[in-house]
Amino acid sequence: MDPLMHLLLPLLFLLALKVDARRAVLLAPLAVLPDLDALFGLHRALGHSFVPILVLPMALLAYSHLKRPEWFAAAVVAQFYLASHVVLDLGGVAFLWPVVQEQFYLQLGVTLTAEGGLSIGFEADWGMQELADMGTTYILSDFGFALILLLALSALVFRKEFLAAVSKAWSFIRSVPGLLRR
Ligand SMILES: [Zn+2]
Repeated sequence: MDPLMHLLLPLLFLLALKVDARRAVLLAPLAVLPDLDALFGLHRALGHSFVPILVLPMALLAYSHLKRPEWFAAAVVAQFYLASHVVLDLGGVAFLWPVVQEQFYLQLGVTLTAEGGLSIGFEADWGMQELADMGTTYILSDFGFALILLLALSALVFRKEFLAAVSKAWSFIRSVPGLLRR
């Protein structure tokens, strides 16, 4: 999945749940962080394994629960962002790397067939596959391009609303340094 989607989907989810916006925005980069493992030629392994995704944040949760209660809410959001990354990457992640040198994958789908009368089917495929292409990660995939195209088309059709939304987003972005200093 695109880093853009990794960033936006869980962030929007938390904002919709009315989680503290400042905390949600400041910690959002954690949702993309696992993909930096491509820089080490260990994409979908090093940053996507149970150690950074589960063990470290759970240790932080336990520590903050016992010693730093003021960190606890941030630790929960951090755990949510890291876990969201692997959930969105379920098409293939080496979650047990380096213990298991293979990717787990889960592919689900619902199909509609028109041959011989309409019928709806459910597809599920899961298993293990070899680690492949560990030095490359998408910055933008076909899905990201489709999204940008859709956005451009909507921006054309809804020019006035689009400009209003952009200026609103821009004033929010300008308020982020202030949020950081608080
Ligand atoms: Zn990833």
